[in-house]
Amino acid sequence: MIIILKESPDKKQLDNLINWLKSMGLEIHLSVGATRTILGLIGDTTSIDIDLLLALDIVDDVKRIQEPYKNANRKFHPDDLVIDINGTKIGGGNFLMIAGPCSIESAEQLNDIAFRVKKAGAGMLRGGAFKPRTSPYAFQGLREQGIELLIEAKKKTGLPVVTEIMDISQLHLFEEVDVIQVGARNMQNFELLKELGKVRQPILLKRGLSSTLNELLMSAEYIMAGGNENVILCERGIRTFETATRNTLDLSAVPMLKSMSHLPVIVDPSHATGLSRLVLPMALAAAACGADGLIIEVHNDPEHALCDGPQSLTPDAFETLTKRVGQILPYAYR
Ligand code: PEP
Ligand code: MN
Repeated sequence: MIIILKESPDKKQLDNLINWLKSMGLEIHLSVGATRTILGLIGDTTSIDIDLLLALDIVDDVKRIQEPYKNANRKFHPDDLVIDINGTKIGGGNFLMIAGPCSIESAEQLNDIAFRVKKAGAGMLRGGAFKPRTSPYAFQGLREQGIELLIEAKKKTGLPVVTEIMDISQLHLFEEVDVIQVGARNMQNFELLKELGKVRQPILLKRGLSSTLNELLMSAEYIMAGGNENVILCERGIRTFETATRNTLDLSAVPMLKSMSHLPVIVDPSHATGLSRLVLPMALAAAACGADGLIIEVHNDPEHALCDGPQSLTPDAFETLTKRVGQILPYAYR
C-alpha cells in the first residue's frame, strides 16, 4: 500500500501517522520527491482502513499495490532514480555510454581500448575479468589479474569501471571497482544478490536469459531490500525460437521497465544480437525508446578477441555509434 501525501505535509501530523503505522507492525518507506511525499507500507496492510487514512488532513490519496516488488516500484518513487557514480551520473535524463572489451586480455589491449573509447565519448569502461563461459574449456578470464589491469586503466584514463562478479568470495577484489555487474546467468543467484545488498557500489543487474521483467525486478528487490538502492537494470536479449541472432533484443522491456520501476535501464545490443553489424541499429533503437545508457563491446582486434569477437565493434565503429546515438538522444521517448 502507498500513501500519497498532500504538498508540504505538517511534520507533526506526519510523525504521528508514521508512528501509528509502525505500531501496527508495518515497515515504512518514506520517499520525499520534488513535488510529492510518499509513504510506502511494507508488511500486511489488510487490516488498514483506507477511508480512515483518506480522512486525514495530510493525506491526498491511498493506493493498494499488487506488485511484490516494493523498493524497486515506480509507485513508491515517482521520480527517476539518478545514480551518481563518483561524479558520473545515470538516470533522470543522464545518458551513460559504457564500452570496452568483453574480456580483459592484457594491459596493452585494455589500455589501448580504454583510451580510444574515452576519446570516442564513453563515460565508463567495461571489461570482464571473471567470465561466465558456456564451455569450461573456453578462456575463463584473467580473474584477479584482470581486475588489477582494470583498476590501472581506470587510473590512467580517469574512466569509472564496471566488471562482473561471479561469486561473493571475489568481493574483496572489487574494492576499487565503481559498478559491480551481475551477469545474466547469475540474475537469480539470490545469495549473491543478498550479499550485494550490503555493498556501497551500484549494481548493474543484467536480465536472465529466460527471465520475465517481473523476475528481473524481484532480483533488483533482493539487492535493494538489503540496503543497496542503486541498481541499474540491463536488457541484454532473451532466448527465443529465433537463431539468426544470438538472442532476441526485447526493446519493449525499456519503456515497460521504466513504467514499472524508477531504476535506470540500459541496453546491451552486443550480447543481444551477437553480430557487430547489428549493434549500431539496435543501439540507435534503444536510445530512441528511452534507454538511460548503452553497454557496448569494443575490441581493438575483434578477429583475434579471446571472447565475443563477432559482436565486438572496432574503436572507430564505436566512435560512429556514439555520434549517431548523440543525434537521436534529443528526440528520445521519455
Ligand atoms: C558480459 O557483459 O560480459 C556478459 C557475460 O553478459 P551477459 O551476462 O549479459 O551474458
Ligand atoms: Mn561478452
